[in-house]
Amino acid sequence: MIKYRCDGCHRDLRRDGSDHFVLKIETFAAAGALEFSKEDLEKDHRAEMQSIMRDLACATPDDIEDQVYRSFRFDLCPACHRAYLKQPLPLLPS
Ligand SMILES: [Zn+2]
Repeated sequence: MIKYRCDGCHRDLRRDGSDHFVLKIETFAAAGALEFSKEDLEKDHRAEMQSIMRDLACATPDDIEDQVYRSFRFDLCPACHRAYLKQPLPLLPS
């Protein structure tokens, strides 16, 4: 039997789902249009790739994943769902 608990207030949620909201968040790197200048084409691409490989060798898998894609799933009760909808990005000024 699967039991759900609110990730906001830790209250047990009903099994029938009548008080259960699912919050899914995805964050990913936005891809812009690719534009190349003459200087881009004249760069030392081997040196640039070696620099990237050195940076990746020092990074953790989580650091690398955070730069590309990350997803989250939360189960919320109605009160925490309402609170989330009022301010979905608490780090930003409302
Ligand atoms: Zn809650």
